Amino acid sequence: MLDYLIVGSGLFGSVFAHEANKRGKKVLVIDKRNHYGGNIYTEKREDINVHVYGPHIFHTNDDRIWNYVNQFVRFNNFVYSPLACYKDKLYNLPFNMNTFYQMWGIKEPQLVKKKIEEQTRQYKNIEPANLEEQAIKLVGPDIYEFLIKGYSEKQWGCNAKELPAFIIRRLPVRFTYDNNYFNDKYQGIPIGGYTAIIDKLLAGIEVKTNTNFFADREHFNSLARKVVYTGAIDEFYNYEFGDLEYRSLRFEHEVMDTDNFQGIAVMNFTEEKVPYTRIIEHKHFEFNQSATTVVTKEYPQKWNKTLEPFYPINDDKNMAIYKQYRAKADGESNVIFGGRLAEYRYYDMHQIIGSALKTVSDEFTS
Ligand code: FAD
Repeated sequence: MLDYLIVGSGLFGSVFAHEANKRGKKVLVIDKRNHYGGNIYTEKREDINVHVYGPHIFHTNDDRIWNYVNQFVRFNNFVYSPLACYKDKLYNLPFNMNTFYQMWGIKEPQLVKKKIEEQTRQYKNIEPANLEEQAIKLVGPDIYEFLIKGYSEKQWGCNAKELPAFIIRRLPVRFTYDNNYFNDKYQGIPIGGYTAIIDKLLAGIEVKTNTNFFADREHFNSLARKVVYTGAIDEFYNYEFGDLEYRSLRFEHEVMDTDNFQGIAVMNFTEEKVPYTRIIEHKHFEFNQSATTVVTKEYPQKWNKTLEPFYPINDDKNMAIYKQYRAKADGESNVIFGGRLAEYRYYDMHQIIGSALKTVSDEFTS
């Protein structure tokens, strides 16, 4: 008899498995994909670690989380500073003095502040009814039009006027010439790729890939005292309260016979008419000097149950459905629900580690 059957070998399941195994518990990890690691999985192609499910940059402000991941891998000193391409012109992100100079030719911070104040004045006292109004209220129509509108509409598959304002709670604006996307104390890319973290977390633990919990849930339930479930919560309950909706992505990976395609790890394409939202050139995450390169075009797409669920659509309708699943899940004594799919929320990696460690501490100190 196992102590824990862990459904899903993503970061949540792997941290839980590692911590339980460390405490002498018997665990088995299963995953329906043909590899472990979930969405942080990286795969070596042309000697380059390819972020198979989209570009991942680790960042955190929390010493405890940073020390935790550094037990398993070392991180390089990559700093995320993406570019946006709009009508063949390039703009630095996040919005900072470089962006404002590129957009308006203004180089003094005080004059930029004045410009943004002028541009946002008419929206100052308006409660934004949609994403468009929210963005213009925060940064004005120029930045909205060039750098936000097309990208958001492609990302979510509808007009920005139909998107809820809450998608953009705040837009960081910096009045310094600083292209570092994150404000966190720590950031970087694991040397050897993200799969190296999972290799270490799951070392000495039995893992079965190509194994779907729902192919024989009675059998899997009978194997262990408890199940740690990191799959979709609506699927666990056979969709009895309805389907939770997601936005999906399609990735086109391509090996190119050049040593440098775009000169940067991530380039956003903010024009509506360019069908993809980003091009990722993986070698630049790790300063790789190889003769070839691997690039990935990221296309947002409408989700259905045959596609990967990437971004939860946390609107009122879906949250009402989720609450019903959550209430049922809270009543389970032998199942622990955790991770982005079981909790129906977007989590960054450092948050997933924090959440998994909290679950571990609740489980082993109670
Ligand atoms: P997952 O990684 O999805 O793991 C769940 C696993 O469960 C999967 O492997 C799945 O196959 C398996 N599973 C599901 N159902 C079953 C079943 N029935 N039977 C067996 N197995 C099952 N975070 C950052 O910190 N920085 C970033 O830059 C960043 N970029 C991102 C970019 C994109 C495009 C996306 C989508 C996410 C990004 N994230 C980023 C978030 C990061 O990917 C997540 O925090 C993390 O992967 C969540 O881990 P998880 O274990 O909860 O889920």
